[in-house]
Amino acid sequence: MKKIAIKKTERRHPCFFSESRKRYGRIHLPVAQNCNIQCVYCRRDHECLHENRPGVSNGVVGPEEALDRLDRALEKMPEIAVAGIAGPGDAFCDPRPTLRTFELIRRKYPGMELCVSSNGLNVRDHIPDLADLNVGFVTLTINAIDPGVGSRLCVSVREGKGRALSGIPAARALIARQLETVSLLKAGGFRVKVNTVVVPGVNEDHAVFIAGKMGAMGVDLMNLLPLIPVPGTKMEGAEPPSRAEMRKLRRMAGKFLPQMRHCQRCRADAAGCLDKSPDTPAPLKTD
Ligand code: SF4
Ligand code: SF4
Repeated sequence: MKKIAIKKTERRHPCFFSESRKRYGRIHLPVAQNCNIQCVYCRRDHECLHENRPGVSNGVVGPEEALDRLDRALEKMPEIAVAGIAGPGDAFCDPRPTLRTFELIRRKYPGMELCVSSNGLNVRDHIPDLADLNVGFVTLTINAIDPGVGSRLCVSVREGKGRALSGIPAARALIARQLETVSLLKAGGFRVKVNTVVVPGVNEDHAVFIAGKMGAMGVDLMNLLPLIPVPGTKMEGAEPPSRAEMRKLRRMAGKFLPQMRHCQRCRADAAGCLDKSPDTPAPLKTD
C-alpha cells in the first residue's frame, strides 16, 4: 500500500495541532448520510455525536455541492486549510460520496489538508484510497476495547449488506475492526485521532485502558468527549460527566498519549477557525 505523504503535512490542522487554531480553519462538508451502527446515545435524526453537536447541521449535500460550498467558504475564509467529512452519518457507511468529495477537492486544491471521521467499521478497505488522495488525518471513535463494555454502548452493527449483529457479537466485530484499522492506518503513516465518548457508569474507568492501548498502537491524539444525553435515546436521563471528572480522566489518559482539550463539537457543516467560526455555536465547556 502507498504510504501517506506525511512529510508534506504541515501542522496546520487546528484540531490535531492546537497552536494552529487561531491561524488556520477547517470546514466540515456534510456528505455522509447514513450510519452502519447504532450507538445508545444517538438519534439518527440528529448528527453523529462523535464529531458534532446534535441537531445542528444544514442537511446532507452531494460531492459537487460540497466542492461548491468549499469554494464559497474559501472566498470568505481563506484561512481554511483543512476540509473534513464528519457526518451527519458515518463517512464510510457509503464510502462513495466521501471519496468522490475528496477526489474533487484534491484535484482543485492540491494543498488542502483532508480529514475524515468514522466509527471505524468500514474504513479498512478504503485505506489505500485515502492514501492515494493524501487524506492525512483520520479520526476513529472507539468507546470500548472490551466487548462487554462495548455492548452497552453500541446496540447494533451492520457490515455490508449482511444481517445486523447485536449484543456482544456486535461489539466484538466493531472492536476487532477498529483495532485492525488503527493498526493499518498507523502503518500507512496517517495521523490518527481517537475519540472516546465518556459515559459515566459504563466506560469512564475503561477510557484509561483505551488510552493505554491506543498509545501503545502509536495513535497521535485522543479526544475524550463527555456524553451528551440526547432526548429520545437510552441515555436521555443519564448524568454527563462533570468537568472535574473529565479533567481527571484526561490527566490519567494523558500518561499514554496526547489529549485534545480544545474540541468544540462543531456542526457537521462548520467552517472557519475553531475560535471564531461564525456558524459554529459557542464551545461546550468540557474542560
Ligand atoms: Fe450516531 Fe455516529 Fe453512532 Fe452512527 S456512529 S449511531 S451517527 S453517534
Ligand atoms: Fe475539531 Fe472537535 Fe470541531 Fe472535530 S468537532 S473539527 S475535532 S474541534
